[in-house]
Amino acid sequence: MGEKIPTVEEKSGEEVRYRMLYDSNGRVYTRKISGFYQKIRRYTGLPLIIGFLLMPWFTIDGRPAMLFDLPERKFHILWMTFWPQDGMLLAWLLIIAAFALFTVTVLVGRVWCGFTCPQTVWTLMFIWAEHFCEGDRNKMIKLDKQGWNLEKVLRKGGKHGLWILIAFITGVTFVGYFTPIRELLLGFVPSVDASGFVGFNIHPAAAFWTLFFAFMTYLNAGWMREQVCKYMCPYARFQSVMYDTDTLAVHYDAARGEHRGPRKAQEDYRAAGKGDCIDCSWCVQVCPVDIDIRDGLQYECINCGLCIDACDQVMDKMNYDKGLIRFTSEDQLENGATHFLRPRLFGYSLAVLGMIAAFAYTVGTRQPVSVDVIRDRGARLYRVSNDVVQNVYTVKINNMDRRAHSYNITVEGEHGEDFRIRGYRALELEEGEIFTLPVRVSVPRDQLQTSKNTIYMTVTAKDDSSITAREEASFIGPTK
Ligand code: SF4
Ligand code: SF4
Repeated sequence: MGEKIPTVEEKSGEEVRYRMLYDSNGRVYTRKISGFYQKIRRYTGLPLIIGFLLMPWFTIDGRPAMLFDLPERKFHILWMTFWPQDGMLLAWLLIIAAFALFTVTVLVGRVWCGFTCPQTVWTLMFIWAEHFCEGDRNKMIKLDKQGWNLEKVLRKGGKHGLWILIAFITGVTFVGYFTPIRELLLGFVPSVDASGFVGFNIHPAAAFWTLFFAFMTYLNAGWMREQVCKYMCPYARFQSVMYDTDTLAVHYDAARGEHRGPRKAQEDYRAAGKGDCIDCSWCVQVCPVDIDIRDGLQYECINCGLCIDACDQVMDKMNYDKGLIRFTSEDQLENGATHFLRPRLFGYSLAVLGMIAAFAYTVGTRQPVSVDVIRDRGARLYRVSNDVVQNVYTVKINNMDRRAHSYNITVEGEHGEDFRIRGYRALELEEGEIFTLPVRVSVPRDQLQTSKNTIYMTVTAKDDSSITAREEASFIGPTK
């Protein structure tokens, strides 16, 4: 708690707010609300949370379904294992995700922020814990105003206890994507050794990162909330570049709502020059980022639709048509029509579909073996014996498959020369094993047309000829 600042509502004697982190207007006491958009938020957030929590516990072929094994430099994602050399795929995935986000933003504004962003989903959970322990908005305000007593200690303690529990589960789960989660969790269970010393069987780095992510979750979803969206998220800042007049976003229909103001039950408010807005401020009270949508489109708005649910309830009570606040476009409000088919949207969609197709093709045809061929710099450039020229190479084979394979190595020249591999015996490589071996390549001298020739070395699994990788190298011979 800190310095008390005045608010609009305080002037009418209803509310006290306190200045908190950054340039906040004070603690946001959100009103509980139900409705269509709140339900959608629940149905989009819940599968994401469940998926996030359960994924590290699933195993496929005896290993976690999702494990970013940094010490081993392997990323297990479902049935596939990715290696550092697949980094390009990851880069493409991020680019696709960015373009998909641009496309969705052009079409329906910041729905990602309002419905699926982890900051939003976790804040939703923390707000649920807050309402559960402290009650709805008015009770929270009352509790903050009253002095410390047993009830306040229990309610506040319960809330922070729940927050810490959620934050700890989040920290464990997040780090569980990088280290086996069962061992990680057991590491936090204290054990007593023979001398009676209580300790934890956990690697200090794992413990540090778990507690770090737990603390960041507690801070972001518990204390900073809308400050993250307003001041820290870069997406909030550049979204305006993607908006156009046909982007669907949460708007207040000022033509219908103004002039706003309270009215008596049977009053002919239109005759009195009033619009449908009764100025109840419910739309502000439910807003998680603490803005008034009636002031127009603002960069803080995350398009969550809670103000729509709140206002629709008010409209229902007043027997007015719903939709004073609704998802619509500036064009619709001003000219009566939204243009969905527009070049920018078409361009983004085409780019995303093209990239997804290319990505799927690359992943689908990705070979679970790689080969590197390096001319052996330690050996002589070439050796000639009985009119046969020989070069030595260092060949590195990486078995990226999930089972062991033995590999054949073949070599061919650019012009059909009779290149041959010498002294290579097929070795079995375990899954994930990298093996480096020297390989000699020879060719009859009279078949070489120049001193520098191109050869192609191919590595093929003996038990599955579709698993193959090819690498180009140069073969040096004597000048003619
Ligand atoms: S103004 Fe409405 S849609 Fe925007 S963040 Fe606030 S409640 Fe959500
Ligand atoms: S909830 Fe609706 S009626 Fe109430 S202040 Fe907001 S816009 Fe006006």
